[in-house]
Parts: sequence; C-alpha cells; structure tokens
Amino acid sequence: MLETLRSIIQEVNGAKDLSSSLDIITKRVQRALDTKVCSVYLLDTNIDRYVLMASIGLDQSAVGKVSLGAKEGLVGLVANRAEPVNLDNASSHPSYVYLPETKEEQYESFLGVPIIHHQEVLGVLVVQQIEKRIFDSEEEAFLITLSAQLAGLIANAEARGAITGFSPSGIKTIDVTFDGVPGAPGVAIAEAVTVFPPADLSVIPNRQCKDIKAEISFFNECLNAVRVDISELKMKIKSQLRPEERELFDAYLHMLSDQALGNEVVAKIKEGSWAQGALASVAMEHVSNMELIDDDYLRERATDIKDLCSRVLFYLQDKQQETMEYPDRCILVCEELSAAMLAEVPKEKLVGILSAKGSGHSHVAILARAMGIPAVMGAIDIPLSEFDGKQLVIDGYNGKVYGNPSEELLVRFQEIVNEQAQLSEELEAIKDLPAETLDNHKIELWVNTGMVTDSATAKARGAEGIGLFRTEVPFLLKERFPTEREQTEIYRTQLAAFYPNPVTMRTLDIGGDKALPYFKITEENPFLGWRGIRVSMDHPEIFISQVRAMMKASQGLDNLHIMLPMISHMDQVDYAIHLIDRGYSELLEEGLNIKRPDIGVMVEVPAITYQMDALSKRINFISVGTNDLIQYLLAVDRNNPRVAKLFSVFHPPVLHVLNGIAKNAERVNLRYSVCGEMAGDPGAAILLMAMGYKVLSMNITALGRVKSVIRNITFEQAESLLAKSLQAEDSKSVKSMIDMELYNAGVERLLRSARS
Ligand code: PEP
Ligand code: MG
Repeated sequence: MLETLRSIIQEVNGAKDLSSSLDIITKRVQRALDTKVCSVYLLDTNIDRYVLMASIGLDQSAVGKVSLGAKEGLVGLVANRAEPVNLDNASSHPSYVYLPETKEEQYESFLGVPIIHHQEVLGVLVVQQIEKRIFDSEEEAFLITLSAQLAGLIANAEARGAITGFSPSGIKTIDVTFDGVPGAPGVAIAEAVTVFPPADLSVIPNRQCKDIKAEISFFNECLNAVRVDISELKMKIKSQLRPEERELFDAYLHMLSDQALGNEVVAKIKEGSWAQGALASVAMEHVSNMELIDDDYLRERATDIKDLCSRVLFYLQDKQQETMEYPDRCILVCEELSAAMLAEVPKEKLVGILSAKGSGHSHVAILARAMGIPAVMGAIDIPLSEFDGKQLVIDGYNGKVYGNPSEELLVRFQEIVNEQAQLSEELEAIKDLPAETLDNHKIELWVNTGMVTDSATAKARGAEGIGLFRTEVPFLLKERFPTEREQTEIYRTQLAAFYPNPVTMRTLDIGGDKALPYFKITEENPFLGWRGIRVSMDHPEIFISQVRAMMKASQGLDNLHIMLPMISHMDQVDYAIHLIDRGYSELLEEGLNIKRPDIGVMVEVPAITYQMDALSKRINFISVGTNDLIQYLLAVDRNNPRVAKLFSVFHPPVLHVLNGIAKNAERVNLRYSVCGEMAGDPGAAILLMAMGYKVLSMNITALGRVKSVIRNITFEQAESLLAKSLQAEDSKSVKSMIDMELYNAGVERLLRSARS
C-alpha cells in the first residue's frame, strides 16, 4: 500500500495542471482499489457547488458540467461532515441524489472521503461499486491517507488556475485571496517580480522572451559551457575512473547535445518561452517521468538530468542576472527572502514584499519594517512563481494577498494607500516634540538600525539614540567577513550620525534565521543552537576584531555602548568583557585616545531574568530583546508562520515577565530598556512605559506612531491599563482594553494594525 501511495503522489506531483492531476488520481485509485467508479468533486467557491471534475466510470460528458450544492447528495454529506461516508446501499440513503447526466448505474456501495487542506474542505474523492458491500477498513484507510496527502497538491494546482484567472470549473476568477501572516504594516499595489534561489529548476516562473533568436543562441552558449565543464572534469579525473564511469560521462555529454535535451529546450524557446523556463519545463517533465519508472537505474538517471540541467540553469542565471530589470513599482515575490535580495532591488522601485517562508518576527520582516515596506510573510502552499509579472495587492496589516484584483478592490486598497501617506505626513509634524504624556511623564524613543543609511533617516525622524545597531546586517550583505578597517568605517558613520547621543552596538548575532552566505551554520534546531554570543565565544578572533573596530570608530565621539546578544550564562559575560578589555588595552597601546564603552547585555533568554544581581556586578545596562525572549518564553519559533498566531506581546505571562525585569533592574540599579519589536507597537509601548521603562528602542517607521500615542494619554491611564492587563487571562482581553483606552483618547487610527 505504501508503495502505491508513494507512486500516485509522485505522479500527481509531476502533473502540469489541475485537470491532469485529477485524471491521474481517478485512474490510479480506480486501478488500485479495483472499483467501477472513481470520481473527484471539487468545491468551486464562485458558485458554492461541488463540481464533478474527473471520473473513471461515470459518463465523460458530465465531467466539468454536473455539480451538487454544498449540502446536496452524498457528496454534500461527506463535505458537510468533513468525514468519510461508507455505505453498502447508497441509493436508499436519504441524502442520495441521482444525477442523470452521469448515466450512473445503480452503484450500491459508496465510499466518499473529504479532501481537506488547512481545515477547509476542497472537495470529495469517491469510489463506487455495483454490489452491495461496505468498503473494508484497508480500502477506507487507503483512500483517507491518499486524500490527506493529495490535498496540498490539489490546493496548489487550484491556486495556479485561480492566479491564471480560472476557477476549477472554468469560471473567471477575480480577487483571488491567499493567506499569509502579517510581515510589515501597509498595503501595496504593484506588479509582482518573482526572484528565486539560484539553480533550482522547480521554481522558475514562465516568462516570454523578447528576442527568440538571441535567446536560442544565449541558451546554446550556456549549454556549451556545461559541456566544456564536463569534458574538462572527465579529463581531470580520467585516471581514477572505471570504464563504465567514463561511459557515464559520455552519456552526460550526449544528453546535453543538440539532438537530445538541448533540442527540446530550443523547440520551447521557439514557441516564445525564455530559456530558463524552457529548460526547467523540459527537465522537470523528464525527471518526473523517469522517477515514476520502477527501476533504480532509471531513477538515478533522473537525478543526473536534474543535476545537468541545474548546471545549465546556473550559467543562464549567472549571465542573465546582470540584466535584471525591475518595473518602476514592484512587489518582490520569493520563496525565502534574504537581506541581500532586499538590497538588490533599487529602493525607489520596491513597494511590497511577499515571502513564502518566515513570519512577522523573522529578521527580514524586521528589516522590511525598518525600510517601511509592506510585507506579507509565511505565504506557504502558494505557487508564488505564477504571480510573476501580474498585478498584485498585498495587505501587510492582515497578511493577505489578492491576485486578479477587480476595479472595486483596487479602489478600496488605493484609499488605504492614500490614508497611509496622509498619516505619515501628520506624524512628521511631531518629530521634534518630546515623547511626553499629557501629565508630563517623559520617556526616550530610540531607534533600531542595521543598514548604514538608517542612521541618517532615524535622526531626521527625531530618534534620541540608537538602542540597537544590528551589526550582522552589514555582514549579511557581504561575500566575506568585513575587515576591521571596513567595519570601523561602517561603525563610525553610525556613531557620528548620532553624536553626542548614545549608539548601542550589538556584537555579531548570527545563527537562527541569520546565516552568513560565507559562514554556513546548518543545524537541526538553529534557534536553540549556535547563535549570537555562542558563536562569538568560539571565534574570539572575529569578536575581538569587531569590538576593536567599534572602539576605534568611537575615538573623539565617546558615545559607544557595546551590547552582548543571547547571554544565558555569566561566564559568557566574563569572557566577552575580558576580550573587550583586551582590545581596549591594545588600542590604548597603539596610541588611541578612547573612553572605555559602557557594556550591556540583551535579555533574550528567559533564564537570565533571574540573574539581575549577578549582571549588575558586571555590566552597565540591559536591554530586553522581546523578539527572542517571547519566542523562548512561549516556545514559538519566531520564523515559523504556522505558529505565528501564538506569538503575542500581549499575552499576560509575557507582561508579567517584562514587568518583573523592570522591577528587578530597578532594584539592582541597572539601566534598562526594551529594543525588541514590541517597543514599536503603540499599545505595547504604553504598557512598557507604565512598567517603568524609560527608553524604548524601535523600528524607524514606528517612531511617529508610538510618540503620538504617548503624547495623547496620561501616565496614570497607562498605569491603570497595565494593572488591568496584568490581571487578564489572555492576550485578546488585553488587546481590547488597550484598543478601548486609545479609542477614548482619540488615537485609535494609529493603532490600526488590523483592518477589516
Ligand atoms: C530581540 O530578540 O528582541 C532582538 C531585538 O534581537 P533580534 O530581533 O535581532 O534577534
Ligand atoms: Mg534577538
């Protein structure tokens, strides 16, 4: 059974569209269970009916035409109950409906199982027999298992159709909606540009080429480059090869010849496809056909084809990259967004981001927020490459994506875009005013930076200091570790831009979801693994050169604070201080005149919240990194969209912990602040202020909204809100209390992080 299931799934996986997927399913299931009939009904949400989409055994003229209402017939019953229905006497069941178009004989036994994807019934898979008998447990289990595994593939194929403009039964689709999770607030309407990981044949979008002749010769040039590579490789290792292995190299060269794969690709280019798309389509078709064959040798050849074609693709992409043209306004669509991808698109052209991986707490989402670009993350199970070149609407407030937008939808979202612009203008007016409540309680709003250019923008928006400079960002944008001199220059720009105000530089915090392209860390559980200070302690040479660069850069400015990430043990603090002091003495010996910087620790690992006394003996300040602290407190991977809803800054236990940190830091006389994203949420910021935090460091784009809220309430109101929140049992109640308070204060518009 397992083998049959595997091969059906594999075959469906290789199907080119929904209709071929369904044909494969009905054919293979009918054969596997030896039934008279096997049919698939899919829900067409445009008409709210289950349409017969494929069948073996029922009249073919009924396929695509016959449908049942959402609660009609046995199909409706299966869908409605969302569970299997197994009957030996179907025609006598009260829900039975005879559909004459199907020329259905009296099939008495009926087994229908729902096809469910993300809790939604997509359709029903049905098998029928003439004789009266209940399908046995083995058969039922087979169908249920298959249906569960097929659901994702069917959903994907349906989505492809919908993006192209058609529902399962061929009705024109508009406002096709897909779910992701909120990444960065705001709405964007623009053309999608899909970017994809290099040399991955499975993610290449379909694009038309501009000049067929030029595209063919470009393809041949790349094909030839791979041929040369393979011939050279063969020559190099010739002496180590057995005769049959040498033959294999010849076979590879043949596969790449004009008469084989090359020829097929050229034929597709002649039809108008760009070379990358033509190559990917030819390769994937061969690979899926060969993988289906029950022969180990041929299956291995499928891997060879994939490998050879990926090499050609590598050349195509390497050469085409230089000529990548972005439309004037574009939404960047990708499987997994990286800081380097963000940096590649000209800033003035990038208006939105859509990523399949990650959530609102991923580092790239934080970067997107810093850049003020609306983003939807975690758009899993969506065939993103289909969006390429099409108009899209993304709603970063609610984590929604709309394809084939109608005029009405565009008008509605354009209004929101205009409103956003107006709000930004209004907030600009208060940028030089203090963050002070109506009853004169003043706090400081600092900013988190990463990109070198951030500091100038932040200063212009009224930030009073840098609470977190994520030094890993410049590291992420390079192809090797930056030298001490290069780092000194970067740090100097930040320190000088904010002089005489404080600039808090965090030492390199890599690992987790921040992988340096030139220093790969591959781990099963990266957020609990080799991250932040743990990497630095194992590589003191990287650490010391970084802190030396920071201190050098601070000469004459003396506004540097150094902060250590991911501290969980005191010996990490001791070792880091020892290295900083060593670097400091070296610099003094080298004749520099610098002040020893203040040293602080990020509170991100829950355990450290119990060590305030020990910390106070060693360091000058702490800053709470709520992004990681909440991740570890609630056991929610900040990068995983499936659990993104559980990550809540308003969860009462989280508030208790943050309150406790403030009280303890106060007791031991340690300066304390918050630099996690929570500080940039206007509602959360007032709770933090009430807890006693006097410095909140946030994303540049959040500054205006937080300041505006603080200026419109009293400290007393904030304190009473905090008291009530600490008594609450869940985040929903806390959120609604805050919303109510701010609504009464007249600033509800600023809170808007969820629109209907
Ligand atoms: C945090 O964890 O809250 C933090 C500010 O650090 P980062 O988001 O870079 O992990
Ligand atoms: Mg962190």
